[in-house]
Amino acid sequence: MNIVLLGIQGSGKGTLVQDLSKHLDFLLVSVGSLLRDEIATGSKLGQLIKSKMDKGELVDTNIVMDTINKKLSNNKKPIVILDGFPRSREQADELDKICNVDLAIYLNLKKEDALKRIMNRLTCSKCGNITTRVKCPDLVCPVCNGKLTVRSDDTPEVANKRFEQYRLETEPLIKRYRESGVLVEIDASKTPNEVLKAVMKVIK
Ligand code: AMP
Repeated sequence: MNIVLLGIQGSGKGTLVQDLSKHLDFLLVSVGSLLRDEIATGSKLGQLIKSKMDKGELVDTNIVMDTINKKLSNNKKPIVILDGFPRSREQADELDKICNVDLAIYLNLKKEDALKRIMNRLTCSKCGNITTRVKCPDLVCPVCNGKLTVRSDDTPEVANKRFEQYRLETEPLIKRYRESGVLVEIDASKTPNEVLKAVMKVIK
């Protein structure tokens, strides 16, 4: 079963997959995280990716497809969750060439609420755990004691550029998946636990 997660930046896709992994066995293909892993290696490719990311722009589809194909090769898990992919019509077309989309989960959240969440978001530099300044004001990860940091693209300016990119390129995919009958819309303004319950119900 192949599931894609759609939703504006800050709608809780990362938190949802983090929570889902405690209840469900699946292969997670989180494109943003995979790209950040490449940046962390310090490679030339990583530098190119960082320059795009820091401007709030999409990374080239051929780079993204290489990353995804690497992750999908030798997959033995029956469920695959694609987080942050596809983000454009071009990417959805590429995805159709390699697999079927059985379910598209759309986390619906207003832009104003998404911005508030992004400004509150912290990510662990060691284990990738996503949390908030409100929950962890001491900047210590509750999972691994690593240092919690603010993502370099989580500034109001870059967030607004990412929202615009989402509106122009990603939002049209909602219609595409609704028309193909695989879209399920979830109210992402609810608590992470309520969102998790709603999504688990749909997957089951
Ligand atoms: P995310 O972690 O999903 O918020 O993504 C962070 C950044 O990674 C985005 O602003 C893009 O620069 C890049 N990125 C993530 N997913 C994709 C994708 N499917 N296509 C192109 N770039 C992506």
